[in-house]
Parts: sequence; C-alpha cells; structure tokens
Amino acid sequence: MRLLRSPFSADVLSLLFLAIATNTPCMAQHSRVVYLVPVGKVEKGLLKELAQSLRDKLGVAAEIGEPVEISKAAFDQGRNQYNSTRVLQGLETTRPRIGRGRVTLPLLLAVTEVDLFVPNLNFVFGEALPTKDMAIISLCRLRQEFYGKPADTTLLMERTVKEAVHELGHVWGMRHCPDPHCVMFFSNSLPDTDRKPDTFCKRCNGLLKDNVQE
Ligand SMILES: [Zn+2]
Ligand SMILES: [Zn+2]
Repeated sequence: MRLLRSPFSADVLSLLFLAIATNTPCMAQHSRVVYLVPVGKVEKGLLKELAQSLRDKLGVAAEIGEPVEISKAAFDQGRNQYNSTRVLQGLETTRPRIGRGRVTLPLLLAVTEVDLFVPNLNFVFGEALPTKDMAIISLCRLRQEFYGKPADTTLLMERTVKEAVHELGHVWGMRHCPDPHCVMFFSNSLPDTDRKPDTFCKRCNGLLKDNVQE
C-alpha cells in the first residue's frame, strides 16, 4: 500500500457546511429512524443483529433496506479501495422517505464489506456526513481475517456495533470525546476500538438527548 501522510485513521467526520467549534450538537433535530443499507454483499444475519443492537442500545427504529450496488465511480484502482464520501454520495437518491406523506428522510447508515478510504488517509473504518444525515461503516478491517487471524464473529459484532454507534453519534451532531470510556472517543486503531465501550459517556449522553427526536 502506498505510504500516505497519516498512516492510521478510524473515521472521518465531514463537517461540510457545519460550523461547530465545540462538541455542541447542531440545532437541527435528527431522526430516530435508522435505515440500514447494505452496500454490496453483506451478510443478512449480521445486519439483523446490528439492527437489534441499535434498537436495544439507542432506542432507535432500525430498519434494513434492500442491498444497493456499490458505486463504480467510488473505486480507486491504484489503491484498490473505495472512496467513502463518493459511496455515500451515490446513496443519496436511494433513501426512501418515511412518515405521513412520506416527507421525512430517515437517517441512513450504510454497511459495506469493501475497504474504504478518504484522500490523504490510508483507510477509514467509517465516515459520517451529518449535514445529510448519512454515515457508512466498513466491516473489512473489523474482521480478524483481515489481519491473518482466525475469524471471530463475537468480536466482529462488538466492533461493528461500536463503529455504528460512533458514526450515528456524529450524524446526531457529536464530535470526538476525550473520555476513552465513551463510544465517541477517537479510535486511532483497532485496539482503541476494542478498549472503548459501545455506549456514550454521561456528558455525551446529555448532549445527545437535546439533539435527537423522542
Ligand atoms: Zn469519529
Ligand atoms: Zn463522551
């Protein structure tokens, strides 16, 4: 792999048009309906388990959408990876509207097996676009097999839930938290992810309550 400026990265919070100086949730209230969209081939059982975990842990209404083909335009041949921002942009039109008169856009959480990157970073576990209520996570580097180790479905699920909750936190207006015992703590590597819980610290939880529709 090409050596890039920042060798590691857990995720990217794209704050396009979002001026936040502190960890203050943005003013808009975000949906509690999370639409899980498999991008490319993703194991159905894993998605079901993720949806259930998100319902249990966050009290969201999580639904699983139809699989969507990954955007070919997002593929970078030189890196053999997909540009996560482009993948998300490709999904903008596939999100169904919900509610009365079908005017509300649910929060979209894309899940993919392909390896993701953003320019200047070797890889990302995920990316959030809060201004569009969209996020994506990749399972590729959450799998033990990626590191030449035997598969571990329990560990994979734990990591997937943490990454999903973390990215949803970003979509709900949260930034990184300095508390290593908070899911919003910035994971620079997989051991950081494994150390942190899948829950918000007291402070982040308080901020979150102001920002999400009941
Ligand atoms: Zn993050
Ligand atoms: Zn926190």
